Amino acid sequence: MPAPAPQMIDPFGRAVSYLRVSVTDRCDFRCVYCMAEDMTFLPKREVLSLEELDRLCTAFIEKGVRKLRLTGGEPLVRKNIMSLIRSLGRHLESGLLEELTLTTNGSQLSKYAAELYEYGVRRINVSVDTLDAQKFKAITRWGDLAKVMDGIEAAKDAGLQIKINMVALKGVNEHEIIPMMEWCHANGHDLTLIETMPLGEIDGDRTDQYLPLSLVRATLADKFTLEDIPYKTGGPARYVEVKETGGRMGFITPMTHNFCESCNRVRVTCTGQLYMCLGQDDMADLRAPLRASEANELLNDAIDEAIGRKPKGHDFVIDRRTKQPAVSRHMSVTGG
Ligand code: SAM
Repeated sequence: MPAPAPQMIDPFGRAVSYLRVSVTDRCDFRCVYCMAEDMTFLPKREVLSLEELDRLCTAFIEKGVRKLRLTGGEPLVRKNIMSLIRSLGRHLESGLLEELTLTTNGSQLSKYAAELYEYGVRRINVSVDTLDAQKFKAITRWGDLAKVMDGIEAAKDAGLQIKINMVALKGVNEHEIIPMMEWCHANGHDLTLIETMPLGEIDGDRTDQYLPLSLVRATLADKFTLEDIPYKTGGPARYVEVKETGGRMGFITPMTHNFCESCNRVRVTCTGQLYMCLGQDDMADLRAPLRASEANELLNDAIDEAIGRKPKGHDFVIDRRTKQPAVSRHMSVTGG
């Protein structure tokens, strides 16, 4: 009999099979709910090299990770990122890794879509909060919607399956959810709505932006027939099929519904810090053991020790009394 595949099991019996890696904290956008406009980024020496990122990802894959998502910051603005993606593609060929994917703002997709497909990427998430060019500029501060749309088109032409991620923002894009859904489904894309999470200091007040997706779903259900479906992509979204459009819509509800029970994920920052939960501060430094020796023993020990203290879940709160973010780091540190 073949040896059983290795697994990382946390104290609550959950197998960790999904790794998200933030390959850079830098981004070419400054989305208002994500970053302050004058962000200070990490000095380059603190950031893992592409070779170190490859070694780290490979160690996790050898320990049972089957799905790997590169994120950021904006993953496609990291210099030579394609060499990392090409190299990681070897784990798809060997069958150890089931999926290599990324979350992107789409600004660089025209340039990279064909190469992504060539190296084994089949699905990507693209973050688009509005289809209105002016509003897009207002939300992203620096983004250009036309460029993102060209990128999405290029990705589709390259054969990549696309899921659009839309952060639902009260009074900003809440009335665009239906048009966004219709556009996505007419173009063959899934749409996932995300609640804003209290991560990192931003310039505005999050209480003003927070829109519970339970409300959105109820409003949608007045106009459309939403059927719960068991579709899973390995992430935290719960999906419905919209009967009228025939498309899929996902809801990521860290605020209104605790999605922790089935958590199979851990996250690594571009400096090699392993976060066992998006909503908790506890982490393990993997850069020191990675750099301390060329063999992986120290690294593997550090990973095992950290998985052994993966918490049960998080407890996000957004209300007028809770002014502090739940965790001080921005989403661009641990990635989406
Ligand atoms: N630059 C890439 C992008 O735009 O998708 C990857 C990184 S970005 C941090 C990943 C996702 O996190 C995006 O969909 C973004 O909208 C979302 N995001 C950022 N800050 C958030 C917050 N505070 N609450 C909820 N989602 C957030």
